[in-house]
Amino acid sequence: MEKISAFWFRRDLRLDDNTGLIAALKSGKPVLPLFIFDRYILDKLEDKDDARVGFIHSRLEKLNEELQIWGSSLLVAYGKPLDVWKCWLSQFPIAAVYCNRDTEPYALERDKRIATLLQERGVEFQTFKDQVIFEGNEVLKPDGQAYSVFTPYSRRWLSRYEESAPRVQKLPANPVFFTGSKRPLPSLASMKFKASSIAIPEAAISEKTLKSYASLRDFPAEPGVSRLGIHLRFGSISIRRLVQKAIPTSKVFVNELIWREFYQMILFQHPRVVGQAFKPAYDRIPWRDDPEGFERWQKGLTGYPLVDAGMRELAQTGYMHNRVRMVTASFLTKHLLIDWRWGEAWFARKLLDFELASNNGGWQWAAGCGCDAAPYFRVFNPLNQAQKFDPKGAYIRRWVPEYGTQRYVEPMIEHRFARERVLGVFKKALAEH
Ligand code: FAD
Repeated sequence: MEKISAFWFRRDLRLDDNTGLIAALKSGKPVLPLFIFDRYILDKLEDKDDARVGFIHSRLEKLNEELQIWGSSLLVAYGKPLDVWKCWLSQFPIAAVYCNRDTEPYALERDKRIATLLQERGVEFQTFKDQVIFEGNEVLKPDGQAYSVFTPYSRRWLSRYEESAPRVQKLPANPVFFTGSKRPLPSLASMKFKASSIAIPEAAISEKTLKSYASLRDFPAEPGVSRLGIHLRFGSISIRRLVQKAIPTSKVFVNELIWREFYQMILFQHPRVVGQAFKPAYDRIPWRDDPEGFERWQKGLTGYPLVDAGMRELAQTGYMHNRVRMVTASFLTKHLLIDWRWGEAWFARKLLDFELASNNGGWQWAAGCGCDAAPYFRVFNPLNQAQKFDPKGAYIRRWVPEYGTQRYVEPMIEHRFARERVLGVFKKALAEH
């Protein structure tokens, strides 16, 4: 039987400028495109109408349609990756497996097991850089150490990009895909999920948004940001195309994309940040065990309108504006003195654009324990933040319609009291040895 190559889609759900897929197509063998709905990930999701699962499913349907142009189709399995691969290897004459790298701790562990299996079976395994411009070991200090501060990292990132910007690649004109695997995609229901009512933003950014990004991006009432997070997470947009488009128009936008790679680098270099403070002394802080306070925060009933607006936006849309993420995260950790890991887990459950590295980095930044030069005594005043970034209250009224009426809740904690409390608790914990 003629040998084939397999291309395993993961967080790169597109045909355009897909590095590993294009390499597989150049292998000279017909390419079998594959995807696994991973039970280790899906079984842990608490919401059975999780919009991210629905989004992946609809992207796979679209890829399947696109592949039909070449008489092929996407083979999709639902199970545990090692079991699925054993099954595929017994069904198809696969000589080589291609995929793009994912450097999250779970993905590295999974791929190590698959690599061992493939090696035992004499199948080649080739992995490629695709979802970032620079991976976690590529932008380093001149002495080879990893950066822990963003600004010098970003300078080095930009100079490396200017030296050699990565090429954008199109699918070859006549790609040869394997045509012998026509099976329907598993339905959401067969995996015990159902469709969500949450709408997914489109995978594009306009010149207009790029031009006004620097001046509007901090104002949550304005349509000033891209909402591309979910597409960057699952690769329904190419990072190379995005950077290429943004560089001439908005350095500020590119800077945000560099933050994304900075946090991925931090996670790759220091996997202990999952569960532990980047600055170890902060693991001595005696966080308050306050499930009731936590629930008021989750529901957007704190009595601080910008915090409540953000938490309700998150619950209803799977999105929260970056400025408001900073304010709500600061409120939980500083005003309520609740462990940043509780907040991190809630965002991980609700955010469409949830990304382990950026979420962890954002939470550690807000709690003061991350890789950040600013000291812990920066405590956002949520009322001042609202005046500054939502001066007309348009964002607040959109999400908290009862704001300004008798029905709106009283603040659950006084700002001045909370500020003094957190400064005292942090100071004491950080001074102890
Ligand atoms: P835009 O402003 O249009 O930016 C474009 C892209 O740049 C984003 O999609 C994202 O990929 C990247 N980006 C922008 N800002 C940051 C940043 N500060 N850090 C890392 N990447 C950035 N971002 C996530 O992608 N996933 C998360 O789970 C996540 N959790 C966060 C939690 C907290 C507590 C905080 C403070 C921030 C978090 N962020 C996270 C970063 C940032 O808030 C979001 O990336 C951004 O709001 C997404 O909206 P957008 O796509 O419209 O962003």
